[in-house]
Amino acid sequence: MVTRDDNALQDVRRRHELRVLESLAAHGTRTRRELEGDTKLSRTTLSAIVGELRQRGIVTEGDQENQGTGRNGRPTKVLRLDPGAGAAVGVELGRRRVSISVIGFDGSHVAGTHRELRESMELEEKVLLAADMLRTMVRQGRVVPDAVVGMGVGIAARHANPQSLYDGDAPQQDPRGASLAPLREVVDAPLLWDNNIRLAAMAYGKADGDLLYVVLAAGIGSAAVVNGTLLRGGNGMAGELGHISVDFAGPACWCGRRGCLEQFLNEANVLGEAARRGQAFESVAAIAEAARAGNQIAAGLAAWAGELLARAVVSACVLLDPNRVVIAGELSQLGEGLLAPVRAALAEQSLHMGPRIIDVAATVYAPTAGSDGAAHMALKHWAMDAAR
Ligand SMILES: [Zn+2]
Repeated sequence: MVTRDDNALQDVRRRHELRVLESLAAHGTRTRRELEGDTKLSRTTLSAIVGELRQRGIVTEGDQENQGTGRNGRPTKVLRLDPGAGAAVGVELGRRRVSISVIGFDGSHVAGTHRELRESMELEEKVLLAADMLRTMVRQGRVVPDAVVGMGVGIAARHANPQSLYDGDAPQQDPRGASLAPLREVVDAPLLWDNNIRLAAMAYGKADGDLLYVVLAAGIGSAAVVNGTLLRGGNGMAGELGHISVDFAGPACWCGRRGCLEQFLNEANVLGEAARRGQAFESVAAIAEAARAGNQIAAGLAAWAGELLARAVVSACVLLDPNRVVIAGELSQLGEGLLAPVRAALAEQSLHMGPRIIDVAATVYAPTAGSDGAAHMALKHWAMDAAR
């Protein structure tokens, strides 16, 4: 029987272990003496923890490269993380998809799986499905729970309260209507959750980059990555490009304003606009294909969408000055026809403050982008920021 004391002991041990893992993640290689300094653990405790981490294949010990020899004439021994062990887990509970990603301490992809959902599911059911998928990965040895420093969970349509973003002394408040306990039971690591689109942006951001990420689909989801981390704002709502008005006299939006970008650029309205212009298309993919084949209505639609997108993106770029704008989602299939007006509008604007280069690109569909980004967010928070 596990007593409360046993649990408390395990918690302490786990916290010590995380300190060792965080230090190795931050520095790459570390001698035992350096680890003692980083973690403030006693030599005996550290030795026991390192021994166990080596036995589990999470940490390896070898000779330091290019450092000559130590005082006793032997090469200095250093510890490093095995990048294949899997450091952070990301989970996406999307509208139509549940995906899981595992990344190594160096940010490399270690394992992943995803399942498309045929019908809409309650958040609670998605949590259970994800927990099952994760349990299977653990059983297959594709996730080693003890090596995981943190877990990120992206949830469709939920924005986390910025006051309660990460598990600290107390667990982050769960999203309304669903407990994340089933996931916590499979992998006992600190957890954070936030909106799935925003966490996905972390999959495209460079470690210290500035990025505007926009998903154009049934609605608009977007996020800004500033200096390598997600911009959340004081209320957790930062980066909602879809609710920048591109026409103050435009149609009323559910948000209470008029002419929001999302009122124009959503799949249903783009298909409707095609019909109003005299040609019905079955899908956005069909419009994209027709535009490439020289169909004037289709090409005109892509340009119309691009010009509306440009209005909002230029406003956002004045505020955020990103290095990259990444357009994803169904409408990104419109490709160059959609992107060219955005590039032109950015190029036309001269702020007379210095040269500005913003790369504008569309991404290809990546089913695990949401969980990849969630894993990167967890790695950044618990392995990189924590060790700083
Ligand atoms: Zn709106």
